[in-house]
Amino acid sequence: MNNNISPAGCLERLRVLDRERMHISRAAALLQWDQETYLPSGGIEERAEQLAVLEGLAHERLINNEVGELLGKLRDAFSLDNAVHNAQDEFPADDFIRVLHRDYEKAVKIPVDFVRECAKAEGLSQAAWIEARKHNNFAAFAPHLEKMLDFAKQKAAFWGWERTKLYDGLLDYYEPSLGVHELTAIFGPLRDRLQLLLQKIAAKPNPGNVFINHNFEKAKQEAFCREVLSGIGFDGKRGRMDISAHPFTTALGFNDVRITTRYAASDPLSGLFSVIHEGGHAFYELGLDKSLRYSSLAEGTSMGIHESQSRLWENVIGRSRVFWEPWYPRLKDYFSPELGTVDFESFYRTVNNVVPGPIRVEADEVSYSLHIILRFELEEKLFSGKLSVNELPEAWNAGMKDYLNVECTGDAEGVLQDVHWSMGAFGYFPSYALGNLYALQFWNKLQEDIGTTDQMLRRRDYGTIHSWLRDNIHHKGRCKKPAELIMDVTGNLLSADSFFRYIEQKYTELYGL
Ligand code: ZN
Repeated sequence: MNNNISPAGCLERLRVLDRERMHISRAAALLQWDQETYLPSGGIEERAEQLAVLEGLAHERLINNEVGELLGKLRDAFSLDNAVHNAQDEFPADDFIRVLHRDYEKAVKIPVDFVRECAKAEGLSQAAWIEARKHNNFAAFAPHLEKMLDFAKQKAAFWGWERTKLYDGLLDYYEPSLGVHELTAIFGPLRDRLQLLLQKIAAKPNPGNVFINHNFEKAKQEAFCREVLSGIGFDGKRGRMDISAHPFTTALGFNDVRITTRYAASDPLSGLFSVIHEGGHAFYELGLDKSLRYSSLAEGTSMGIHESQSRLWENVIGRSRVFWEPWYPRLKDYFSPELGTVDFESFYRTVNNVVPGPIRVEADEVSYSLHIILRFELEEKLFSGKLSVNELPEAWNAGMKDYLNVECTGDAEGVLQDVHWSMGAFGYFPSYALGNLYALQFWNKLQEDIGTTDQMLRRRDYGTIHSWLRDNIHHKGRCKKPAELIMDVTGNLLSADSFFRYIEQKYTELYGL
């Protein structure tokens, strides 16, 4: 590399390398999307190799020496003067350097051999998990989980976290600056309040389920989903919707975001709520500011903030009375034999029926965060050595009984239900609950700024909501860290109060508590 290159020249070169890496990553994401949606089964083996090559290339683009040298020079230049700011008017160069430096450090500290070893063990672990879940047999998966746990600890140690703080290191990876201490302080009281509320709800009669005993044609469900998705503002020229076994969202470019869903014949809304959820993720990706395009800044700032956007649309908006007032008549048009005689109130109560069960992804709004808090507490104990892998199923079942009054009848619907641990993704679960908390903090501020949204939602007018979310959250991409973003937008630190107040109010009214 030319040693006399100016800071502006360094920045330009770094942006080229970053841009190429983003293109490679997104090409890999397209192959991944295809694998989950349309790939014929015969193509799987070759696809795995193609993905490994592309991911390897993207990784190499990030950790190569030139990136390290350019970052070093730019960080020096930044501490001296503002030359780079002035050279690049619109592009937030200082945020770019900070974010890229974080990614670079995270990647470069992990030895290449270790990455390879991890990937291999992960493949075996996932295969073992699928088998173990099929046969309801945790013991068959336990040695792999032990290994994944050990790899995760090593990873955090490579990043520089001391032995007693390894779990903090993993939490920080997904949600910067939130560790065990902060999460315990937030989740502990929330757990107690939700548990109490659930007990009160359990004492009330179950409102019943208006979908039971019907079959809802999948083609009609799909048509309704497409109508709602476009109705809430998803631009068909900037994305598409397909079917996959597990719903997900993937951004393939600035103007191309893919979402997926799946349909259940017994429940016309399970597919729809996935669509609205993934739609919320898509709005975030599609709302990024143009100036961030092609750079590492053009992504959500954290898993928790991303999840706040999906949960806001799915739950706070999508499960509200005012949302369904105009949409329920449309749903009835699609399913008149099944729902023709069902009144709005009974329908609305089915949408918000609280029935604690063993499965996280099927949980209602009140139970959901308790599933997550249990996982967080178990992970913390696994890392601090208070719990061994072999003791995990028992601790899991005890927690489910204690928090949700649910008996797990086997490991498949208990400790083996989620894919995350088989992939070594420890520290990821909290972001789902954090999404709920951020969502309500943002939502309250949005109401404060633009006034109550009830009339807008009754008119199916979502424009003002989109503008607020774009201006305050989406536009910024990774320029703001999550803690800065929540403070800048709402004037408050992360807290569970807004979320709990929302839950308490909604379900007190619904259940007459
Ligand atoms: Zn999500």
